[in-house]
Amino acid sequence: MNIDYKALADKYGTPLYIYDFDYIENRYTTLKDAFTGKKSLISYAVKANSNLSVIAHLATLGAGADCVSIGEVKRALSAGVDKYKIIFSGVGKRDDEIRAALKYDILLLNLESEAEMKRVEMIAKELGKEARISVRVNPNIDPQTHPYISTGLHESKFGVEIDMAKRMYIYANKSDYLNPVGVHFHIGSQLIKLEPIKEACVIVADLVRSLKAIKIDIKFFDVGGGIGVVYNDEITISPKDYTQAIFEATKGLDVTLLCEPGRYMVANGGAFFTKVLYEKVNDGKRFVIVDGAMNDLLRPSLYNAYHEIEAVGIEGEKSIADVVGPVCESGDFFGKNVLLPPLKHNDLIVIHTAGAYGFTMASNYNTRAKSAEVALQNGKDRLIRKRETYEDQVRLELEYLEK
Ligand SMILES: *Cc1c(COP(=O)(O)O)cnc(C)c1O
Repeated sequence: MNIDYKALADKYGTPLYIYDFDYIENRYTTLKDAFTGKKSLISYAVKANSNLSVIAHLATLGAGADCVSIGEVKRALSAGVDKYKIIFSGVGKRDDEIRAALKYDILLLNLESEAEMKRVEMIAKELGKEARISVRVNPNIDPQTHPYISTGLHESKFGVEIDMAKRMYIYANKSDYLNPVGVHFHIGSQLIKLEPIKEACVIVADLVRSLKAIKIDIKFFDVGGGIGVVYNDEITISPKDYTQAIFEATKGLDVTLLCEPGRYMVANGGAFFTKVLYEKVNDGKRFVIVDGAMNDLLRPSLYNAYHEIEAVGIEGEKSIADVVGPVCESGDFFGKNVLLPPLKHNDLIVIHTAGAYGFTMASNYNTRAKSAEVALQNGKDRLIRKRETYEDQVRLELEYLEK
């Protein structure tokens, strides 16, 4: 990215998220090209970055959407995603969410339990519809990633075991209101090793073969998301190796290959801008206090995640500092022991690789307004979300205020 950070920070103010749409486009086409020769659908995992303009940009390129709430399904539809490219996953779908998804006639509901399957059947019956479903299988593979974002082990709350999945498919196949057309797994996020994905593919492909043998024709083989990105010095999975592993495992199966990348698509295309408020030293320890905080970008606080922190255009002898926000929590930091030059009021700090799970995890903690979001495309910048105001935040409360 060749970007005039300072000009953007001056134009839109801080804290601020910026997303490079050309980069996102390149990520999508690189992955799509790696599927060449096979039927495939890339359904972008909206939870990584659900700004309508981001979803719309990917939809224009042909992407679908992987959603985990009816709100996300609505975002996808509003952004122009084809309804037959929308998938709805998640361990706890409410009745109203299931009903709406069936009415919208999206491609697939991913079922995560037998109890949920029965609810979907009941609601489909009520609506006189046949629900297209897939079952999220838990292949019991250690994805070798952070435990908070690992989802494919038996002790995790996600999906069902293979034997249960089989029973669910047999049940669904007999039901007048369920049409089992897909199989799904998602073993974790920020996966940088291919082996766990390969193993999961092999296990789930075997399941599909055994289902086809009893005339349950699975048409969509969904490998979930999880492709890791480079935050620091990780060596991660290449799209070509990824698809080769999937091709190998599914050899001979007539299926459409589906995948649901979130982070891969947007993480490195985004940055978070924040300005220095003050420097201080407590008991010999240097702190840089900035105007962004954990309510804007939670990953460092939540996962102890690393993000590269750059002081834009500042020279001088570097020393280590903790970069912290103004929120009243000790966990409110962006980086610890970061090498930084001497900084003064209004110097610009850019926090890299913030395009995924950044804004979508933002909150109003401490009655802080959410940042604005800006898109960069073809050398131009444009606002894609206004900075929130105090009035936006209290809008749903004011009328109840007793005078
Ligand atoms: C979160 C999630 C994804 C996306 O994960 P990434 O690591 O961002 O690629 C895909 N599928 C499901 C079911 C998810 O829950």
